[in-house]
Amino acid sequence: MFCIKCGAANQDDSRFCTTCGAPLKTNIDQYKDSDIPSTGLKVLSFFIPIVGLILYIVWNNSYPDKARSCGKWALISIIVSTILYFAYGCSVATLLASTY
Ligand SMILES: [Zn+2]
Repeated sequence: MFCIKCGAANQDDSRFCTTCGAPLKTNIDQYKDSDIPSTGLKVLSFFIPIVGLILYIVWNNSYPDKARSCGKWALISIIVSTILYFAYGCSVATLLASTY
């Protein structure tokens, strides 16, 4: 593997660069990093739940953590919008009832 900082070649199992001493990432670490659900993804899934659901299906095998996070926030979004929809419906009904 190659050092991210200086580009020097190192042993695959070494944890630090022999040239500059920078910590080296193993393949497992890189995989873990790529599977961390980012805030942007959560926000995206929340505001556009259909995207979250699609990402959940697409990433279910390759990035299980990210997929779960997207699915969870898409679900929260659907629940919240349903509650807001009913709350709005109730408030309009109350308003109409008080008017007449
Ligand atoms: Zn280095």
